[in-house]
Amino acid sequence: MRILVVEDSPTIRMAIEQMITQIGHTALLVSSGEEALQLTGESEFDMVLMDIEMPGLDGFETTTLMREALEHWIPIIFISGHEADDQVLAGIKAGGDDYMIKPFSPIFLEAKIISMKRISEMNQRLDALNNHLADLSEKDELTQLSNRRAFKEKAKQVLHLSQRHRKPVSVLMLDVDHFKAYNDFYGHMEGDICLKGVAEALRETVHRSSDIVARYGGEEFVVLLTDTDVYQARLVALKILENLQSKNIPHEKSLTSDRVTISIGVASTSVSDQYDLNRLTDLADQQLYYAKESGRNQVHAQKDKSQKTILVASTNSDNRSALSNAMQSYGNIVTADSYQERSLLAKEIQPDLSIYDGTCDSIGEMEALKDLQLSTLLVEDKYGHLLGRVEAIKSKSAAQIEGLLVSYLR
Ligand code: GH3
Ligand code: MG
Ligand code: MG
Ligand code: MG
Repeated sequence: MRILVVEDSPTIRMAIEQMITQIGHTALLVSSGEEALQLTGESEFDMVLMDIEMPGLDGFETTTLMREALEHWIPIIFISGHEADDQVLAGIKAGGDDYMIKPFSPIFLEAKIISMKRISEMNQRLDALNNHLADLSEKDELTQLSNRRAFKEKAKQVLHLSQRHRKPVSVLMLDVDHFKAYNDFYGHMEGDICLKGVAEALRETVHRSSDIVARYGGEEFVVLLTDTDVYQARLVALKILENLQSKNIPHEKSLTSDRVTISIGVASTSVSDQYDLNRLTDLADQQLYYAKESGRNQVHAQKDKSQKTILVASTNSDNRSALSNAMQSYGNIVTADSYQERSLLAKEIQPDLSIYDGTCDSIGEMEALKDLQLSTLLVEDKYGHLLGRVEAIKSKSAAQIEGLLVSYLR
C-alpha cells in the first residue's frame, strides 16, 4: 500500500516512515494539510495517516476538504498525542475512520493497516459491483448501446439543458429494412450479428460525447444529436446509410437491395421548436414512416416551415431532377431549363440559393463545352453573387454533393 503521512513534526514523520517501510509498505510524506490537499488528485495513495495538531489547516479541516476532493473512499486514520474522547469523536465526524495515539508500535500500526485494507478492498468490490449493475440496467446486452430506458433518461436531461442554452437538438429514428425476412432466411443468430453490425455503423458515425446512440427495441435504433439542426442531422443520417452500406452485409431476401439497409426519420427542435422528448420521437417516427413508404434505404426529415427558396437550373433534365431531389429537404425548389429562364427567375423571386450547371451559363450550348458544363455546378446567392463551384460532380456521391451545396445555405 501507498500510505500518505501528514505530520508537521519531522521526527515523528521519520519514525512513522521507518515503521511503514519496515512492514513492507511505501510512505509518502508531507508536513502540512495544504501540501496533502495539493497531492490529492495528483498522486495515488491508498490510505492516510493524519496528524491533528498542525499549523495552518489542522487534521480535521484537511480531512473534510480531502474527502470532497477524493473520487473514491480511502481510509483516513488520525494520529494524535492526546487521548480525549471528544477529539476522537470530532475526528470520526470530520470523515476519519480510526484513531491512533502517539507513540504507537509497528505491530499496532500493521494491525490497523490490515484491518483498513480489508474494508478498503470490500469497498472496491462493492463499487465494481455497483458499476456492473448500473451497466446492466443502462446498456443493451446485444449491442452494448444504451437501452431505451437509459436513452429516455439521458435525452430528457440533454433536452432540458439545450432548451436553456437555446441550442437545437435532433432525433433520428432508425429501423432495419425487411428484417423479418432476414431472420426468417438467415436465422435469429445471424439476425443478432446483423444488429451488431448496424450498431457499429451508428457508433462509427456519431462521435460527440454529448450525443446518445441507443437501441430502441427489436431492430429499431434511436440517435439524439446535440447542437444539431435538422439540416446537419439529415447529413449525419445520410452518413449512417453510407457507413452501413460499406459494411456490405448481404440480404438476399430484401426487396430494397441485395445488402442490409435501414430507413431513417429525422425530427428537430429547430423545426418544431418543442423541447419535448415524446413529441420529437413521434415526429421522427412519422418521418421514418415516410422513408419506409417512399421505398426504404433513405432519410426523411421534417420540413422547415421557414423554408428557403432554391433555384435549380440546367438544360439537362437528369441534372435538374437530381439537384431538385438533393435539395428538396432544404427549401422550396424552383426549376429553370434555359439560360433566359434562369436569369428571369433569379431577378423575379430572388432565391436564397441559385444552383446551376454550365449549360445554363451565358456561354451557351457549344458542343465542346458540354461535358465540362454538365459536371460543374455554380452556386449564387440571392444577389447573384457567385458563392462557389462544385467541380467534378460525376465523381462525387449524391450525399457529398448535397453536403457541399447545403454548406452554402448557412
Ligand atoms: P420493414 O422494412 O417495414 O421495417 O420490415 P421488417 O421486416 O423489418 O419489420 P417487422 O416489424 O415486420 O419485423 C421486425 C423483425 O425484427 C421481427 C423480428 O423477427 C426481428 N427482431 C426483432 N428483435 C430482434 C432481435 O433482437 N434479434 C433478432 N435476430 N431479430 C429481431
Ligand atoms: Mg502536530
Ligand atoms: Mg420495426
Ligand atoms: Mg424493420
